[in-house]
Amino acid sequence: SAWPNSDGVSFEQLGAILLETPKEEKAREWSRYYTSGPHLAGKNLSQAEWTRDLWKSFGVKSEIVAYDIYVNYPKDHRLALLEEVSGEAQEGIDGEDKKEREWKIKFEAGLEEDVLDEDSTSGLEDRIPTFHGYSASGNVTAQYVYVNYGSYQDFEDLQKANVDLEGKIALIKYGGIFRGLKVKRAQELGMVGAIIYSDPGDDGQITEHHGNKTYPEGPAREPSSVQRGSTQFLSFAPGDPTTPGYPSKPGVPRQPVDAAIPSIPSIPISYMDALPLLKALNGHGPNVSSFNKYWQGGGLGHKGVHYNIGPSPPNLTLNLMNEQEYVTTPMWNVIGIINGSIPDEVVVLGNHRDAWIAGGAGDPNSGSAALNEVVRSFSAALAAGWKPLRTIVLASWDGEEYGLLGSTEWVEEYLPWLQKATIAYLNVDVGTTGPHFKASAAPLLNKVLYEAASLVQSPNQTIANQTIRDTWSGHISTMGSGSDFTAFQDFAGIPCVDMGFSAGPDTAVYHYHSNYDSFDWMERFGDPGWHYHIAITKVWALLAAKLIESPIVPLNATDYAVGLKGYLDAAKEKARAKIAASSSDQRDLLETAVSTNDLFDNLDAAIARLHNVSVAFDRAAASLADEIEHNPIPWWKWWEKVKLYYRVRAVNDKYKYLERQFLYAPGLDGRSWFKHVVFAPGKWTGYAGATFPGLVEAIGDGEWGQARKWAGIVTGVMHRAAASLEK
Ligand code: GLU
Ligand code: CA
Ligand code: ZN
Ligand code: ZN
Repeated sequence: SAWPNSDGVSFEQLGAILLETPKEEKAREWSRYYTSGPHLAGKNLSQAEWTRDLWKSFGVKSEIVAYDIYVNYPKDHRLALLEEVSGEAQEGIDGEDKKEREWKIKFEAGLEEDVLDEDSTSGLEDRIPTFHGYSASGNVTAQYVYVNYGSYQDFEDLQKANVDLEGKIALIKYGGIFRGLKVKRAQELGMVGAIIYSDPGDDGQITEHHGNKTYPEGPAREPSSVQRGSTQFLSFAPGDPTTPGYPSKPGVPRQPVDAAIPSIPSIPISYMDALPLLKALNGHGPNVSSFNKYWQGGGLGHKGVHYNIGPSPPNLTLNLMNEQEYVTTPMWNVIGIINGSIPDEVVVLGNHRDAWIAGGAGDPNSGSAALNEVVRSFSAALAAGWKPLRTIVLASWDGEEYGLLGSTEWVEEYLPWLQKATIAYLNVDVGTTGPHFKASAAPLLNKVLYEAASLVQSPNQTIANQTIRDTWSGHISTMGSGSDFTAFQDFAGIPCVDMGFSAGPDTAVYHYHSNYDSFDWMERFGDPGWHYHIAITKVWALLAAKLIESPIVPLNATDYAVGLKGYLDAAKEKARAKIAASSSDQRDLLETAVSTNDLFDNLDAAIARLHNVSVAFDRAAASLADEIEHNPIPWWKWWEKVKLYYRVRAVNDKYKYLERQFLYAPGLDGRSWFKHVVFAPGKWTGYAGATFPGLVEAIGDGEWGQARKWAGIVTGVMHRAAASLEK
């Protein structure tokens, strides 16, 4: 519809331009640029300027917005397995006066990724060492324990089995949860260091022992590859840890960081370096077989690892040395704007630019290449006469990798305007590392996401003309965390989509945060024809176009209400399970005192009301959309147009502000930065989302008083949301 810009291009014409413009060779060119050298957070000014200038060359007003942010850069590290020289190591008298004990180095970890001829950035002189974002400096020597994934539950199991953790170093497998939470729990339990390794058992069928060659010859994991990454305690607040809730502009007051980042040292290592450490635990402490079966890493059992928990005996220790330099340093977002006819209805598109390594062809620069193609496509549409109805903001974030730094600081700075004006935020972090489309979204956006995915041809057709929607299960996850949508969704109450194509157990292993997330890997294994770069470009552009051009904002309230009912059912189930698991005398007490019905009655009613109101509202909005489409008002009946404009505006305002209704200003218990009562990152998962976090966490902890408090808060919020749509 060309309403109200009757002189612009039609939506069909716009859609055609956005589907025709993106080109594989262009995405490849942008990818080549970003992935040709290091562009770590706070060390990528030239790429920020280049991006700004590129967008300007496309006719988009663009500028750099900088913040001063507290981060670490790597200086030095060491990891050695030490064995006490026998003979000297008499048990002796336990006490102060111990003889100098003599140790020999049984194994010294390389802590470096191999330089490969076939992978040009793996050998760069200025390549980035392996390290953890926000890790603590330290030098510890201690016995060590294998703690599986280091999840909250894993540590519970270890404690139940009386494995001594205090004073030990944790040897942790990557996977399952956000790495910072692994270090957080180890630290809380008195452990003195953390080593996190990538187990090839988590790489599905594409492991060496299934007969696959390792990268670069084949699709299996390169044995020296290391996953860098942030170990901030995401559960506290994202963004600069010294400025929770306000922007890190030069000169602002800074808060202490103790609750936000680790105080024990940690390093990431490869499975090659982990192998001798795991083997040295053979025969020490319980075997993983006495725990859950999933504790057994798949790949390394074939290399002589028996997976004993430890601790290693007192004559077998690890020396872990980690030296980090902490600085407060500028970081650079690039912000572009394309003005629409309506200035205070805004759609924001964002991707981060910073990478842990010289490459970053998957994370994040497949998304950066796509964003440049989106901007180029918008530019082509503008040249063809497109007059956007709403305003488009484009963002190339810095500092995502350390803790969503650039995006969070920007949202904190522009919060009032963003909350007044923003319709949606559309995030693409990893654009593609494989063929599987994945999305998470606020339910308001489900419908329009399906519509956009239905407009784009799949690069992976088994039947002619299959769209992305056809080759995708249609599963949309709830919003958790792990990328730049977090401040928009959880702090500002703006509905978000996060999407991209991923590798799976059937495709080449994606070397996440490793040197081998490179241009060469992408061209050889990840997206050889660059078709998925273009597919994500098109879904992103079409999704934005629908949100920008539909006269009635294409959000769907009913989907939200339906989602809420499902989350409530899950909360009830959790309460039932918790009561069932309590001791029998307690159970009777609980069932009468906090009978689950009593706890949930009011909330049930509030969500039912919101559902009814939403159905009616969506219906009224749809009929207004119909009216606009089928009864065009002739230009000379301008007064009719004015009246219609105000009716449309009233509906659109309600859609725009609906997500905002789910914010609760005091925030969640113990992490007040998180304001959304429906979605938050799981307290002990980080990436995976929790629904009704305040309520569900209280239930999980058996804090029934808190659960009642939260049921009351959420009930109030649901009524407020319903009231906002009524009238
Ligand atoms: N996406 C980055 C990671 O998963 C940063 C996530 C975060 O710090 O919240 O490591
Ligand atoms: Ca801040
Ligand atoms: Zn990323
Ligand atoms: Zn990343």
